[in-house]
Amino acid sequence: MVSADKINQWVRPEIRALASYHVPPAGDLIKLDAMENPWPWPEGLLQDWLERLRQVELNRYPDPGAQELQAGMRLAMGVPDAAAVILGNGSDELIQMIIQAVAMPGRTVMAPEPTFVMYRQIATVAGMEFSGVPLRDDFSLDREAMLDTLERRQPAVTFLAYPNNPTGNLFGADDIEAILSRADGLVVVDEAYAPFTDASFMARLPDYDNLLLLRTVSKMGLAGLRLGLLAGPAAWLEQIDKTRLPYNLGTLNQVTGSFALAHRAVFEDQARLIREARSILLAGLQALPQLVVYPSEANFILFRVPAGRAGEIFAGLKTAGILIKNLGGAGGALHDCLRVTVGTPAENLAFLKALQGLLG
Ligand code: PMP
Repeated sequence: MVSADKINQWVRPEIRALASYHVPPAGDLIKLDAMENPWPWPEGLLQDWLERLRQVELNRYPDPGAQELQAGMRLAMGVPDAAAVILGNGSDELIQMIIQAVAMPGRTVMAPEPTFVMYRQIATVAGMEFSGVPLRDDFSLDREAMLDTLERRQPAVTFLAYPNNPTGNLFGADDIEAILSRADGLVVVDEAYAPFTDASFMARLPDYDNLLLLRTVSKMGLAGLRLGLLAGPAAWLEQIDKTRLPYNLGTLNQVTGSFALAHRAVFEDQARLIREARSILLAGLQALPQLVVYPSEANFILFRVPAGRAGEIFAGLKTAGILIKNLGGAGGALHDCLRVTVGTPAENLAFLKALQGLLG
């Protein structure tokens, strides 16, 4: 038996205070909780992929630099020639690498909140301070508050999810530019939801010496693969790359990633379908007068239910066979809020019907 005293003696207090990143089991539920692409691969593509996997030599270590995959990612993501890139085991790993490269006690990571929770989590694990700057009531950036925190805390890194999770909106490009011009440290624009919006800072990478850009293949349809891309100035990436574990991308990841990107038209078509489905789902939600529905440039929609009912509606949907995300529990800016990922038209309809029934 490991005693609580032992744990308290050796595990750092900030780790003991953390809650682990909780992913509830989905079972047979319609899964609209995790921003996944609902569409499977076409059968022909699956066959070709399996054929490609037959040639993999798993007795050998992977290509440590993942050269072929890097070239495919640069092309697919439109990375400017002037920018360097690093690939990660999901963009989560890249967030961790960026933070590890600058982490020192007393230094700060800044992000608006609510936002993607891993910025705070990874900064805390790295022993850094985290400064969350509240978004305005409409979830836009509070430019003055961000600039003020920049001045006072001089953060080593600022994270801006663009579009933001879980709110779904795009921050003002002019607000982001103001932060980029004022920040002494790094500014990371995290474009995880790029397949579902036309907005991007990718082409502006050469304009700033403190801008890093994150992308992932997770939301475009490859969440199971674990593959992300960090792009930015070579001088920064050269340092950040030193925090990368050797062979962070296995051969199966590399081969599958290259294969999928060579067929990316399939995923681009699926992203188009998801965008269309998003408009229909948004209209369906807006037709329910009990809800406040927030506009989205991502593959999910945030909405607010009548006060105190988020838990009950979330549970009711689950009983009806549908899993979404309940963000209302913690109160604060997301009080009474639920988040639904855009699924197939049939899944979205099932969700809307069940929700309508529960709202009564
Ligand atoms: N950034 C944002 C804004 C996200 O919402 C997510 C996933 N929820 C990630 C990064 C992590 O994505 P990945 O699957 O590439 O680790």
